[in-house]
Amino acid sequence: MLKVEEKLFQDRYRVDAGHPHISIRDADLCTHRCSERQCTVCCPAGCYTEEGNGKVVLITDGCLECGTCRIICDEHRNVEWEWPRGGFGILFKFG
Ligand code: SF4
Ligand code: SF4
Repeated sequence: MLKVEEKLFQDRYRVDAGHPHISIRDADLCTHRCSERQCTVCCPAGCYTEEGNGKVVLITDGCLECGTCRIICDEHRNVEWEWPRGGFGILFKFG
């Protein structure tokens, strides 16, 4: 049985350089007012990471467009979320 990482490797992602379709509205809010930082554990693609200084970094390359981060940040509503532009984003089923 394939692991999740192996399944993700079968997807392809077309990066829209310079136009990330998701962004964090207020980075300071993540660092100073969000104690759970649930986005860093709920994103299935690992797009959100917490650095040692408490800063949360978002890199949307590999985003599966599942919408989890938009919903999980319900208390602070700190995630700006849009679909990728046409022709960009995830392509499924390569395995
Ligand atoms: S859950 Fe929202 S507020 Fe908290 S760290 Fe993630 S993006 Fe920032
Ligand atoms: S939409 Fe899903 S895969 Fe993309 S960054 Fe949010 S949680 Fe991660």
